[in-house]
Amino acid sequence: MDCLFCKIVAGEIPAQVVYQDDSTYAFRDIHPQAPTHVLVLPRKHIASLAHAEAGDQALLGHMLQVSARLAIQEGLGEGFRLIVNTGSDGGQTVDHLHIHVLGGRAMHWPPG
Ligand code: AMP
Ligand code: ZN
Repeated sequence: MDCLFCKIVAGEIPAQVVYQDDSTYAFRDIHPQAPTHVLVLPRKHIASLAHAEAGDQALLGHMLQVSARLAIQEGLGEGFRLIVNTGSDGGQTVDHLHIHVLGGRAMHWPPG
């Protein structure tokens, strides 16, 4: 499958990996939008949040917990933001589900 993030998970494309376990993988975003910008994704290919199925519930919950744990590990105790861009209007550019973990500066609202 021609998926950038599947290739990173397979070790075919290098990334700054910060966490991995049986079902998830996390690495630093190549174009960080904040002092900390990590992407948390499932090892298995799910095209987007809209493509997740009923059987993915535990995996999705695990990804949220991994994201929060990583944020704390990264020193983001003052707060952080999780983003899941979904589909073209949602600003998704890589079609492999991922959670952006952003922090290290004050976030703005509403987002652009
Ligand atoms: P999204 O636009 O929500 O689909 O997010 C895709 C993210 O992947 C963007 O923030 C990109 O900067 C990031 N990205 C693209 N290529 C790479 C790469 N090779 N390594 C790490 N992050 C990447
Ligand atoms: Zn993929």
